[in-house]
Amino acid sequence: MSTSIINILPDHLANKIAAGEVVQRPESVVKELLENSIDAGATSISITIKNAGKSLIQLIDNGKGMSEEDAVKSFYRHATSKIASYEDLENIRTLGFRGEALASVAAVAQVELKSRREEDTAGTFLRIEGSEIKEQSKCAHQQGTTISVKNLFYNTPARRQFLKSNNTEFKHIYDTVQRLALSKPEIALEFVSDDDTILALPSQHLDERLKNLFGDRHFATLIPVQENTELLSVSGFIGKPDFARKSKVDQFIFLNDRYIVSRSINHAVFSGYEHLVEKGNFPFFLLFIELDPHKVDVNVHPSKMEVKFADEQSIYRIIISVVRKALGGNDITPTVEFNRQSNDFSSLRHSAIPRFYPDSSGQTSGFSASKGSSYGNEEIPFDLTSKLDQIFAQSPGTETITPDDTQTHFQHGTRDSVAQEGKAIWQLHNKYILTQIRSGLMIIDQHVAHERILYERALTRMNNAVPSSQQLLFPQTIQLTPGDYTLTNDLLPFLNSIGFETKPFGKNTFVLEGVPPEVKAGTEANIVQNILDEFKNNQLRVKLDARDNIAKSFSCKAAIKAGEKLGETEMRSLIDQLFATSMPYVCPHGRPVLIKLSLAELDRRFFRT
Ligand code: ADP
Ligand code: MG
Repeated sequence: MSTSIINILPDHLANKIAAGEVVQRPESVVKELLENSIDAGATSISITIKNAGKSLIQLIDNGKGMSEEDAVKSFYRHATSKIASYEDLENIRTLGFRGEALASVAAVAQVELKSRREEDTAGTFLRIEGSEIKEQSKCAHQQGTTISVKNLFYNTPARRQFLKSNNTEFKHIYDTVQRLALSKPEIALEFVSDDDTILALPSQHLDERLKNLFGDRHFATLIPVQENTELLSVSGFIGKPDFARKSKVDQFIFLNDRYIVSRSINHAVFSGYEHLVEKGNFPFFLLFIELDPHKVDVNVHPSKMEVKFADEQSIYRIIISVVRKALGGNDITPTVEFNRQSNDFSSLRHSAIPRFYPDSSGQTSGFSASKGSSYGNEEIPFDLTSKLDQIFAQSPGTETITPDDTQTHFQHGTRDSVAQEGKAIWQLHNKYILTQIRSGLMIIDQHVAHERILYERALTRMNNAVPSSQQLLFPQTIQLTPGDYTLTNDLLPFLNSIGFETKPFGKNTFVLEGVPPEVKAGTEANIVQNILDEFKNNQLRVKLDARDNIAKSFSCKAAIKAGEKLGETEMRSLIDQLFATSMPYVCPHGRPVLIKLSLAELDRRFFRT
């Protein structure tokens, strides 16, 4: 009787088992093949998929190609040209190195390969099925490699069954292609799915690639980052806080050109945004981190997406400070503004034209200016709905207001305007305003709505240097700490320009003779102190420029608070004024101002449909 019950598995079976780790879905194949093409030095790659990659995944590259011998070897397990020794493993510069991708793919699909090196006259053709070479011959081929992967999981029906819908599998593939496209903008990339050209990207600069992938509009909301330290260098872009989204989709970290997932770096980025994005919102970021390969282990997971840093703490600290610095050095006010000249809301519907807030010098502030291209008066194509999607939660049952809705119901200066005679309007818990709109119910946060109104007013007054002030019958003196006194002195021009008529009046004291008309009687002296406090607060958190900070602090402190009872006329007028602003949907801090509950949703909830 035999004394051994242990079998050494034949290669084809071992490969099939290993394939389970490497090849989870069509996307894994796309990723591995793309990485191989990049490692082969390709400058142009074309990807074709059919049936979301389930029937066909084909890559054509113009990389260095393979000799006949290597072409055959490349399908062996643990066959790689990228490392030869353990030392090499600690100094990985290539995307691949485990030598198991092609072996795994060939174990669970029908694969055809054509490849030729520059120095060879003929190329090599291989057809492999279930790890077995079925055909090997010479063929004509341009320099580079073409690899076709057909009928993935044809011989592992259980796995094939677990594949998701074409939409889902396509989405996975698209995400992967997008990542590679971002990490290598210099590589020309074509991506065709079922005869639709999804991407056709020339070799280009990262800026251009971002615009191609996300749109000019989105690009304009990005702030560049760049930092070199002894340990690492970081470059890339981060999103302005008010463009943060509810999902983590647009977050990219590349470590030495490899897309990675790192909780710790993500966390560091979020910490950098502290207080700037609402909890549950995620800012866009695209970070390229370059680090000595000895200081990171990329071999902790077969997908190579997780890595282990030798000095995680320091990296964490550097990333936080990089993000803070970038945010601090940029104007992060909402960058959307509609045509100011016209308050007619219909302009929003047809040609929503955002502008950056020009600063006092008439220059466009923030990112666009620093990139040398001014969007100041230029029209940028802008899709408001997608902007709204980015900003608001699409939590079930609630929807954000779209311009169409508001246009129909609150069009400025028409009889359809907010007055909406006859339509009921309520205040809920002295906090939210509820009103009927054609498609259902609109809910407005009274405080943030008023904040938006006051913020724009303050900016307009400062821009046009036409303060609007209400004289106080009895001028008030304001006693300040020496620190606040100095600060107030510095801010005097801004305070004056929005309507605070105030002058130094002896030691650490000001006299207040007039206030903006929005300031409630009885709160005059307090509000100045509150604005100062808010100003300092903002300064600590987000180095805003002084003008903007004053506008924000004023709007925040002078706005109607949650808890204040409003009469019907006040509510209607508030809504009227809100929709006369350039951006009624977001408060100056990026929080939503209103949401909509549709009739359809209500009907659904009550099983009326
Ligand atoms: P790894 O990428 O980890 O080395 P793979 O199984 O993906 O392992 O590929 C095995 C080897 O085949 C690679 O090391 C490389 O030498 C060669 N190879 C694979 N794809 C290509 C390609 N598109 N162009 C040139 N050589 C390739
Ligand atoms: Mg590989």
